[in-house]
Amino acid sequence: MSGVVVIGGGPAGAASAILLARAGRAVTLLERESGPHDKVCGEFISHEAAAYLAALGVDLSALGAVPIRHTRLAGRHGETRIALPFAASSLSRRRLDEALLQLAADAGVEVRLGIRARRMARDGDGWRIGVDDGALHASSVFLAVGKHDLKGWKRPPGLQSDLVGFKMHLRLAPAEAAALDRHVELILFPGGYAGLEPIEDGLANLCLLVRRSALPKGEVWPELLALIRTACPLLDRRLEGAQPLWPKPLAITAIPYGHVQKSANGVWRLGDQAAVIPSFAGDGMAIALHSAHVAAAAYLEGGTAETYQRRMARDLGLQVLGATLLSQALVRPWGQAALTSLARLQPRLMTAAAARTRISEKALERTLPQPRGLSFQSRP
Ligand SMILES: Cc1cc2nc3c(=O)[nH]c(=O)nc-3n(C[C@H](O)[C@H](O)[C@H](O)COP(=O)(O)OP(=O)(O)OC[C@H]3O[C@@H](n4cnc5c(N)ncnc54)[C@H](O)[C@@H]3O)c2cc1C
Repeated sequence: MSGVVVIGGGPAGAASAILLARAGRAVTLLERESGPHDKVCGEFISHEAAAYLAALGVDLSALGAVPIRHTRLAGRHGETRIALPFAASSLSRRRLDEALLQLAADAGVEVRLGIRARRMARDGDGWRIGVDDGALHASSVFLAVGKHDLKGWKRPPGLQSDLVGFKMHLRLAPAEAAALDRHVELILFPGGYAGLEPIEDGLANLCLLVRRSALPKGEVWPELLALIRTACPLLDRRLEGAQPLWPKPLAITAIPYGHVQKSANGVWRLGDQAAVIPSFAGDGMAIALHSAHVAAAAYLEGGTAETYQRRMARDLGLQVLGATLLSQALVRPWGQAALTSLARLQPRLMTAAAARTRISEKALERTLPQPRGLSFQSRP
């Protein structure tokens, strides 16, 4: 039997593998991609995610992460700039996930890239995991496959499953890159919302979510971009002279936003397998890292997957519900108008409401009592 098998090498899987291996456990991590890869993600690293990464030994500045200090909300109703109530940063997932997998390998995890888990079933006291060319046996399984479900282990659809996600890296014209510096721009358009922010190497990431029913019928990506540029003069300016880095965007569908896993059936579900929070209102990577820290600690103390999963549901249930309600409003005209007015008239109220969609201070402090170099006190 090969100890713990972690399926999935995103932040949840890699972080849990690092923590278990550093505590002396035998860990094998399976990642279906064979090398560094891009992922649909806004690439915004919140204060909480940064604290968890620092605790693992990730040096975000050394990796090239860029600071984010302000939000700019923009749409057809105008633009409003709000200072973030905490220090944040951004870094491509390609670079962040690769750094985490390297730390896992350094900690002694057997990192097996290019191996996709196909099936998983009970096998005596442990588990049998089917892969393309055979099977692995594990005493315990940490399931960290993100938005993708393993056959036979599908999650229910969640509360908001009609969104399609897109992501494109861009090189902006120099004046627009300078205007975007230190900002995450939240762009509202009919049927969806987008985030534009700088990342390392002078690039920018445009990532958006749109209701399936609002998608243009023909050439989806160019027509969607044209629609958003018409609805948002700010994005229109930003994209003037911008060079896309890929021929087409990455895309993802059927994301079970709002789902919170309450039962375990013996499997430790981490990250998006534990709770799926709408991305621009919430804090997906912080949840992934939180779940990894909680699961590893519980496992090392001899706890069960059932107890762990119930704790996750308690830690995250209200936040995921709040973020999902916010996201449901944000894709509708009345919600976009309300948010724009609130940002203009009561920016402090808006940041306070947004704070309710993040992992609670109590849950964070129980898991990371002394975050290195970062305090949670600056949360609104
Ligand atoms: C549009 C959008 C924007 C977002 N923006 C942000 C943001 O700005 N900030 C933020 O914090 N969060 C954001 N998120 C959420 C964030 O991306 C996720 O919450 C986070 O990646 C979850 O981490 P994870 O480790 O659970 O899963 P993932 O990061 O998805 O990692 C799962 C890994 O498992 C691998 N895998 C899948 N199936 C198998 C298999 N069968 N066998 C082996 N390997 C497998 C995958 O290749 C992948 O590497 C966004 C999400 C979306 C969709």
